[in-house]
Amino acid sequence: MDYKSIYEGKDFGDISYGTALKDYTTWGIGGPADVLVKVENENQLKQLLRFNNKNNIKTTVIGLGSNLLITDKGIRGCVLVLADNYDDIKLNGTELTVLAGTSLNKAAKYSIAHGLTGMEEISGIPGSVGGAVSMNAGAYGKEIKDVCISVKAFDLAGNEYNFTNDQMNFSYRHSKIFDQDLIVSSATFKLQNDDKNEAMAKYEDYTNRRETKQPLDKKSAGSTFKRPEGSYASKLIDECGLRGYRVGDCQVSEKHCGFIINAGEATSADMLAFIEEVAGIVYDKTGFKLEREVKLIGDL
Ligand code: FAD
Repeated sequence: MDYKSIYEGKDFGDISYGTALKDYTTWGIGGPADVLVKVENENQLKQLLRFNNKNNIKTTVIGLGSNLLITDKGIRGCVLVLADNYDDIKLNGTELTVLAGTSLNKAAKYSIAHGLTGMEEISGIPGSVGGAVSMNAGAYGKEIKDVCISVKAFDLAGNEYNFTNDQMNFSYRHSKIFDQDLIVSSATFKLQNDDKNEAMAKYEDYTNRRETKQPLDKKSAGSTFKRPEGSYASKLIDECGLRGYRVGDCQVSEKHCGFIINAGEATSADMLAFIEEVAGIVYDKTGFKLEREVKLIGDL
């Protein structure tokens, strides 16, 4: 398809063609997007979705790419990036309404600076608000569902929806967003008033715990696997003797066995094969089935 002529002159924000998606993921892996669009406001988002829908062009949304394995062949159709181009925070009393591309960390720091508490535990998750809401991301006993009171979303035809927390069907690393192919545009968080210094001390404590335990200086997508019922993926991988295990440029982190590192130029196919190998070894030795938390997208 001649995408350049299809999108010629359209006011959807920044549009590029054949862009390497490895530059949009924390693993540094991923083939090209036919079209990559960075919208800057809700109107552009709505118009783009309507346009793609009318022209039978598939839309795939990504945030900060911190939970993604994009295939080597990349993504056909239109990749919509909602990252720092789609970034805004509004405060109303103790309610924070945040555009989907804003990083969770920025939203958390903003809330603390305004004397609010509630997001410190999840502040170090390196995703966008849209990605975190869709995934119901969580850390240190807190999940998005515990603080998010409403979500504004669009379907792929550009129709708008406003969901309450109850309507989001939040569960472990899952929400309605995936069941119904929706795109999060913004989310509102209900926080509590607190002493600024105490909230900042909590924030620093959680940041410090992450820096001590996680390989934040390496290319990863965080925990590769979901927590299996009755155990922990990192514990099982460690018990199977896989700490530091490496094939090519794919490696189980020495620092945190739940993280798989791209130690160089690993491809998506390398990574997928390595993930399956690790899960296979764990299953054979322990009987626990590890399920991928990381989302695999693109043409295989
Ligand atoms: P992406 O990776 O870009 O996308 C993830 C999925 O969400 C994709 O299916 C995508 O299509 C979808 N998506 C993204 N934006 C939207 C949107 N606006 N609307 C609809 N769907 C959307 N996760 C945790 O839960 N807890 C942790 O403690 C944690 N620690 C991590 C530490 C490190 C070092 C890393 C690299 C990752 C970690 N993660 C953790 C994983 C990841 O940060 C979270 O899953 C995060 O919420 C993903 O957000 P994102 O913007 O990067 O989404």
